[in-house]
Amino acid sequence: MMLCLTLFVMAQAQHIDYKTYFTPERLRVDLVFTGNAQTQDVFLHSLHKEPLWAGSKTVLIAPFDYGDCRYNVYSTQNVLLFSRGFNSLFAEWTTTEEALEKDKAFATSLWMPYPKDTVWFEVSQRVSSTGAWKALKRFRIEPTDALIRVEAPVCEAEALIYNGPVENHVDLLFVAEGYQAHELEKFKQDAARFAEYLFEYEPFTSRKADFNIWILPLESQTSGPSFPQHGLWTQTSLYSAFHTFYLERYLTLPDFSPLGKAVSGAPFDALFVIVNSDIYGGGGIYNYYGISTSDHSLSKEVFVHEFGHSFAGLADEYYTSDVAYIDMYPTDVEPWEANITTLVDFASKWEDIMHLEGVGVYEGAAYMAKGMYRPAIDCRMHTNNAPAFCPVCQRAINRVIDSYTK
Ligand SMILES: [Zn+2]
Repeated sequence: MMLCLTLFVMAQAQHIDYKTYFTPERLRVDLVFTGNAQTQDVFLHSLHKEPLWAGSKTVLIAPFDYGDCRYNVYSTQNVLLFSRGFNSLFAEWTTTEEALEKDKAFATSLWMPYPKDTVWFEVSQRVSSTGAWKALKRFRIEPTDALIRVEAPVCEAEALIYNGPVENHVDLLFVAEGYQAHELEKFKQDAARFAEYLFEYEPFTSRKADFNIWILPLESQTSGPSFPQHGLWTQTSLYSAFHTFYLERYLTLPDFSPLGKAVSGAPFDALFVIVNSDIYGGGGIYNYYGISTSDHSLSKEVFVHEFGHSFAGLADEYYTSDVAYIDMYPTDVEPWEANITTLVDFASKWEDIMHLEGVGVYEGAAYMAKGMYRPAIDCRMHTNNAPAFCPVCQRAINRVIDSYTK
């Protein structure tokens, strides 16, 4: 009886009235993560006031325990007002060989509704050996701080598909990278094609009316991404580059800062960077950004796969691939991703839908041949040949869409 009462009180405490605590604007918190494989730290770089919070005004506390990192925003009375989970390139990098012997710093931007009063902004990371959260640092944010930079849009976003108010639709923003001025029409066509690709896949097909698609036609000085492995460096707006972590096909934005600044004036819940190139590659980092190339023959498959990572936090269901990560998942801890399991806490995963056709437990997932299981023989998160997301991934994606629309 006491337990039920406690749960009830906690659920009640989670209802936060948006207008009481936040203005219609958005706060961008620019941070710098530093460290190595053993120790990590985070520092406040700068604060930015942006025109519009485009996210949900009802789902303020993250409904999922997703991400390798998390930020919680508390009132000065210690009431949790807002939270989100996320992954970052830094968090990935700390699991590489390089992080065993080097210290590095990575810039990151995080967004929240603009607070009316002083808040505490707490950044936590998940302890991989236990799955528990550990607070890294707390920053006190005064919304009246004269040094909070007021941002004006660098580049205006345009609506490609508009289905309704930003606060109860998923706002997916396609950002141009490596397109010169005369190629921005091509970008618009590429973005329209990517939107069509997305809606070819369930559950996106059925949920199309829940999406707004925005495009940011950002101009670059030169075309295409950089190829460090070939000594080829281009001058683009977002500094996209292959060879991330020395992996040929891993295309990312090694520095997040230009992207954070570029999207200052744009409405978005999800960021996807389209890179003007016909070379195979991409990446997707949960609640951070997805990125892939425009013109490879597998651009559709790669984009939808990477969006599965960046939008819904889905894990790779494959296990035979060249990745830089070492010991990424302990087998005695249930991973947080919805589509993989170590069977340590299978009830928290897809045990309840094992009766569905095409759902099972198959060993080999998340770069591990043993001790990690996936829900289907094949899936969009498994191979480029898969025609669909498996039922478990579809359910996870639907739940994330709900968190933006309900
Ligand atoms: Zn799947």
